[in-house]
Amino acid sequence: MPKIAEGVYFVPGQDEMMPDSHTYVIGNPSSKDLSLIDPGLLGKGEYKMDSILQMGIDPEDIRRVIMTHTHFDHIGALSEIQGKIPKAELWIHHIEGDLLEQGDERAVYGMEMFQQVCQMQYRIKPGRFTFKVHRKLEGGETLQIGDMAWEVIHIPGHSAGSIGLYAPAEKILIPGDVLYADHAIGRFDLFGADAEALKQSLIRLSERRVEILLPGHNQIVKKLPEGYTLETLKQWEPYLA
Ligand SMILES: [Zn+2]
Ligand SMILES: [Zn+2]
Repeated sequence: MPKIAEGVYFVPGQDEMMPDSHTYVIGNPSSKDLSLIDPGLLGKGEYKMDSILQMGIDPEDIRRVIMTHTHFDHIGALSEIQGKIPKAELWIHHIEGDLLEQGDERAVYGMEMFQQVCQMQYRIKPGRFTFKVHRKLEGGETLQIGDMAWEVIHIPGHSAGSIGLYAPAEKILIPGDVLYADHAIGRFDLFGADAEALKQSLIRLSERRVEILLPGHNQIVKKLPEGYTLETLKQWEPYLA
């Protein structure tokens, strides 16, 4: 299972009928202060934790789960992961953190039709995605975790509470579903989405020099060309007006 860089581990999503987000573990293992980013699709918790164990990571060292956003394909496996690391805290941007605490699941399913499909397919009862959030992120703060510095960037547009995690020293970006490889960007038609906000978020991301791009789905990129984000934005700008 790949170690991407010092302090960054990658467990690829296992898409089925529905996509399963990638999961990342960040932090230097010697710090015993690791963070798990995005558990993934419902039913994938066991696979994700097994993969993490195989990388030689001690689950006890995972102190928190940080969500890039709370869509079903990222948060579905959260309670399975919490079952395995019950002491881990949950950190989410406050917009979606507040919704989760209130049991408001619109930012989980994104649209009513998808909610019905998921609830039928997985026999989920309404209210299943109600969680206590230990830290609500604002965007703009720098997290000193795992002997690394990770800037939290609020990048709404795909969802209202989307965040990116950026390590300036290592030039690594974890943008959730906002920016992908192959000049793709996240969809902007679901609950809380906003095309103009997505455009501004891509501008914000383009201000960081990124060498390693670790998106929520599909390919990861280890040598991102300079200007990639701006180039991607230019391609999409006509649709984001
Ligand atoms: Zn998403
Ligand atoms: Zn996703």
